Amino acid sequence: MKAAVWYKAKDLRVEQAEEPSVKGEHDVKVKVKWCGICGSDLHEYLAGPIFIPEGSPHPISGQQAPIIMGHEFAGEVTEVGSKVTKVKAGDRVAIEPILAPNENGRYTDEKYNLTDLLGFHGLSGGGGGFSEFTVVGEHMVHIIPEELSFEQGALVEPAAVGLHAVRQSSLKAGDTAAVFGAGPIGLMVIDALKAAGASKIYAVEVSESRQKKAENLGAVVINASSDDAVKVIQDEIGGVDVAFEVTGIPKVLNQAVHSTHSGGETVIVSIWEGEASLQPNDIVIKERTVKGIIAYRHIYPAVMELMKQGHFQADMMVTDKIRLDEVVDKGFEVLSTDKSQVKILVSPE
Ligand SMILES: [Zn+2]
Repeated sequence: MKAAVWYKAKDLRVEQAEEPSVKGEHDVKVKVKWCGICGSDLHEYLAGPIFIPEGSPHPISGQQAPIIMGHEFAGEVTEVGSKVTKVKAGDRVAIEPILAPNENGRYTDEKYNLTDLLGFHGLSGGGGGFSEFTVVGEHMVHIIPEELSFEQGALVEPAAVGLHAVRQSSLKAGDTAAVFGAGPIGLMVIDALKAAGASKIYAVEVSESRQKKAENLGAVVINASSDDAVKVIQDEIGGVDVAFEVTGIPKVLNQAVHSTHSGGETVIVSIWEGEASLQPNDIVIKERTVKGIIAYRHIYPAVMELMKQGHFQADMMVTDKIRLDEVVDKGFEVLSTDKSQVKILVSPE
């Protein structure tokens, strides 16, 4: 079968790989329909390895680079292990790519996203969504409701990050929020904030096309290249209840904290390449809170219910659809230079 394999930064190859087969009793083999290119995939492509194991194998996947990429995907079940009860061949599924301790087709830890062994199918070995077939555990598959397309199924993963960020925040219906960065995850956070009943959502973004998307979702857009977001927010409403940092740019973390009012909260969603400085007094003297979130847990069914109600729509997020053969030129290369792109979906067919 064909697959996109990461060898090292800037060396992603579409090549023939061995088709995986069902070996364990709780294995589920999936024919991939659509797989999104994620910001973390892009990091691995440009400056990796970050999550990709190199030198020693990931403890759960047992693999290290070169590895097949792709963790935001949906597909059709083609075969299941003898003890799988959750799905059967022919079922349409969205994959929860978290690698964490599991037993009898279930994650074992309640907060399985916080395990020391955390990895992702499609980043940490074990196969991935940029391939024709992949085999995952029963605990990683969720049936897609018939109202939702496979394209929508491929968006459950990034939407899950946005929804988990909002659910882990202190935001209550009627509260105000600011989202710094309106890329794919930032837009998902904005949509999750709408679902949560935020009364006003500021979106701070430099790219015009992303500003447009944030506006279409009902956010008040602040152009980060021409305006001082902190000043605008403080002048207009005296600070937001909750700020979400979704850029990974050190100075933006500071702005996010400063955009909140006394007692306000900042939720860090980004993964960082290095340190970011904060003056602790900005937290201390205003009794602010700063917290982080990683991935998600127990949230796929809720994401898909919200999708049925019109949230996290593929029409809004997907800016291009390409074939696996084109994943480097029309996918990774385009995303590294063209910030008007949001989500590019890849089909192995
Ligand atoms: Zn991702």
